[in-house]
Amino acid sequence: MLKIDGKETAMELRTELKKEVSSLKSKYNKVPGLTVILVGEDPASKIYVKNKEKFAKEIGMNSEALRYPVDLEEKVLLNKIDELNKDDKVSGILVQLPLPKHIDKRKVIEAIDHKKDVDGFHPMNVGNLSSGYDSSIPCTPLGCSLLLKKVEKNLSGKHAVVIGRSNLNGKPMTQLLLKENCTVTITHSKTKDLKEECLRADIIIAAVGIPELVKGDWVKKGAIVIDVGINKTEKGIVGDVAFDEVSKVAKALTPVPGGVGPMTIACLLKNTVECFKKAQK
Ligand code: NAP
Repeated sequence: MLKIDGKETAMELRTELKKEVSSLKSKYNKVPGLTVILVGEDPASKIYVKNKEKFAKEIGMNSEALRYPVDLEEKVLLNKIDELNKDDKVSGILVQLPLPKHIDKRKVIEAIDHKKDVDGFHPMNVGNLSSGYDSSIPCTPLGCSLLLKKVEKNLSGKHAVVIGRSNLNGKPMTQLLLKENCTVTITHSKTKDLKEECLRADIIIAAVGIPELVKGDWVKKGAIVIDVGINKTEKGIVGDVAFDEVSKVAKALTPVPGGVGPMTIACLLKNTVECFKKAQK
């Protein structure tokens, strides 16, 4: 069984991006810029934002994190986004989710210029992705598809089962698999027999949030399994896939941690570089 190394793949991607940023600097005499906005004190969000800032700087991009108190007024946030939309030095804007309850997430996502939407959550990007047009692609599904392509270049005709239908993971993942000419089954909490669906899959993408939901006897021999889940349990962080059991039947499997997680930030940097390049045209 191949343990798909997300840490190494993310490092390779960052190295490529660092080279690209340096050649963009020579060509345009400026570099891509990422602005991340954090509202409140959510501990996990604070770590994510710190890492996003750190990795962006490491590859030579401009990077700033704007940190606001939890009681920030919605209109102040919307005004700031408007200012960033107009700022040529800013190629990508990311508002770290979740937001405090008094702030309307939808309004905030729609306020970001879709050309600077490095998360790929703006309805224009969601629509473009589902229409098969050029768009920013949500970072985690993009990371999953890059990991999949490391195992198998041609996914055409494969039967993929996506577990979970969130806007963040399941839905955009489905679009990416369709683009690769997979036959896609999307499953969720109301799916009648999830085990039966999984057993028919050549590829399983688990993005649920239930520790070790996917068992060894749910997986067809030789399947590729990508585990998006990050679940805190008594035995530490585990994914949505029972790693030890599934590794006995799968052809390739991502570990948690060290699989999809590291790819998410690397793909955010990739999206920022793409937005910068499009803005120069
Ligand atoms: P979410 O918004 O809570 O969505 C979970 C999905 O799973 C929903 O569509 C839900 O179905 C479905 N589901 C729930 N119970 C199920 C069951 N018993 N059988 C089948 N489907 C079931 O979660 P998310 O934001 O997509 O995140 C999923 C996981 O990925 C979490 O563990 C999260 O921490 C992790 N994550 C990882 C990364 C990364 O970088 N690796 C990034 C983001 C998220 P319904 O729609 O019917 O409710």
